[in-house]
Amino acid sequence: MDVTALDTLRETLRGEVVGPQDGDAYDDARAVYNAMIDRRPAAVARCADVTDVRAALRFARENELDIAVRGGGHSGGGLCVADDALTVDLSRMRWVRVDPEARTAQVGGGSQLGDLDHEAHGFGLATPAGVMSTTGVGGLTLGGGHGYLTRAHGLTIDNLLAADVVLADGSLVTASADEHPELFWALRGGGGNFGVVTSFTYRLHPVDTVGLGVTVWDPEHIGDVLRWYREFLPSAPPELYGFFATLVIAPEPPFPEELYGRKMCGVVWCYSGKADDVRLAEVFAPVNAPARPAFHFATPIPYPAQQAMFDHLIPKGLQWYWRGDFFDRIADESIDVHATYLENIPTELSTMHLYPVDGAAHQAGPMDTAWAYRDAVWSGVIGGISPDPADAERIRQWCVEYWEELHPHSMGGAYVNFLGAGESEERVKATYRGHYDRLALIKRTYDPDNVFHHTQNIAPAPEG
Ligand code: FAD
Repeated sequence: MDVTALDTLRETLRGEVVGPQDGDAYDDARAVYNAMIDRRPAAVARCADVTDVRAALRFARENELDIAVRGGGHSGGGLCVADDALTVDLSRMRWVRVDPEARTAQVGGGSQLGDLDHEAHGFGLATPAGVMSTTGVGGLTLGGGHGYLTRAHGLTIDNLLAADVVLADGSLVTASADEHPELFWALRGGGGNFGVVTSFTYRLHPVDTVGLGVTVWDPEHIGDVLRWYREFLPSAPPELYGFFATLVIAPEPPFPEELYGRKMCGVVWCYSGKADDVRLAEVFAPVNAPARPAFHFATPIPYPAQQAMFDHLIPKGLQWYWRGDFFDRIADESIDVHATYLENIPTELSTMHLYPVDGAAHQAGPMDTAWAYRDAVWSGVIGGISPDPADAERIRQWCVEYWEELHPHSMGGAYVNFLGAGESEERVKATYRGHYDRLALIKRTYDPDNVFHHTQNIAPAPEG
C-alpha cells in the first residue's frame, strides 16, 4: 500500500490511520487479544464515526484492499486483522446511551462489555453478555452472546432490539423486527458476515447487586460433581447461573494459600435474585451434595464487578488456542475425558468451561434467530492459555486432543465465537446447521461479493 494513498485516507477520516511506516504505533494497532496472532495489515483505520466507516470501506474498494472489521479484538482466530487488508477499527466508537424509562441502551459498535455494564449499572440495569469486561460487544453480540444473566434473561441477541449497519455498498440501514427483518434475523448469531454494525440497541433488565459464588472440589470428585451439576443446574431457578470449569487455582484471594496452583474442578456462580448473605447461604447450600468442597465462597457484589473479575487474570497478550462444541447432556463417557485432561492440564491458565445456555435462552424458538442450537444446554470451550510463546505448540496440542476426545459426546457443532483459528468450512456449517442456507441467501442479498469474509465465513448463495 503506497504511503500517498494512505495519506488520502488520513485526510478523509476524523479518526486516525496507522500504517507499517508508523513503527510502534503500527505494532500496537495490529496487536489483538490473542498474542498467537501476528498479522500485518496494509493499514488500520481507527474510525471515529459512521462517516469514517463508510469512507474506509469506499477507500478499500477503490484500492482493491481486503477488509477486516475490528470490534473488541477478542476473537480467538484474530479475525479482525488480516495480512495486507485494511482493518476498519471501531475502537474509537465506544459510547453508551441508556434510556432508563424505556430500559434500553444504544451502544457504539466498538464498545466493550464493561462500557455497557458500567453505564447501565448507573441505572440499576443490565443485559446478558459475556464474562469478561474487555470483550467487544460487536463480535460477542453478532455471534449470539451468553453470560451470567443468560438463564434469567436469554442470550445477548434475545435482547437486541435494533442495529445500525453499514453495508458492503456503503449504505447505512437500521435492522430491527420491522426494518430489514431478514438482515436482523441474520445479525442475531450469524457473525460479522453482513456489514459493519455501528451501533446496537439492547433491552435492559433490573439487575444491580448479584450473588457471586465460587465453589471448587478436588479433582478426584470430578465425576460426582459433574453428575450432580448436570441435574442440579438445569432444574435450578433461572436467576441462578453457574458455569462448570476445570482449572488451576490462581494464587490470589479469595482462595486460601494452600490451594494456590492446585488442579481443581469447580463452578463459578452468579445469582441475580435478591442477593443478601442469608439468601446466598440458602441458594448455595446444595454445593455440599456431591462432595465436600475444598473451598466455597459467596458474596453480594455489584454486577459490573462480577463481569470484570477475570480481566486481570487473563489480560491481552497471552497465547491462546481454543475450540468449542455445544452439549445437550454431560455424558458419563465425557466425564472420564474431562478428568484425564484436567490431570494433563498444560499450564496454570489453561481451562475448560461449560457455559449454560438454557433457562430463558430456551424461550426463543429454533427459527427466531440465526442461533441454531436452542436445544443446547451448555456451550463448551477448551482454552489452552499461556503467557509464554514457547508453550504455543503444547497448549495447541492439549486443546486439539481434548477436543477430539470430547467431540463425539457433543451435539456436533460449536458456538461460532468459540471456533478457533483456521477451523474448516464444515465446522462453520455445523455451527449453523439447518440455518446455513438461509444465511447464505441473506448474505447474497446484503454482501454478494463477500466483502466481509474475515469472519467465520458464510459464503453468498450462488445465483439462480
Ligand atoms: P473481534 O476480533 O474484534 O471481532 C470478532 C468478529 O466479529 C470479526 O469477524 C469481526 O469482523 C466481527 N465484528 C466485531 N465487531 C463488529 C461490528 N461492530 N460490526 C461487524 N462485525 C464486527 N463469548 C460469549 O458469548 N460469552 C462469554 O462469556 C465469552 N467469554 C470470553 C472470554 C474471553 C477471554 C474471550 C477472549 C472471549 C470470550 N467470548 C465469550 C467470545 C467472544 O464473544 C468472541 O471472542 C467475540 O468474537 C469477541 O468479539 P470482539 O468484537 O471482541 O472481537
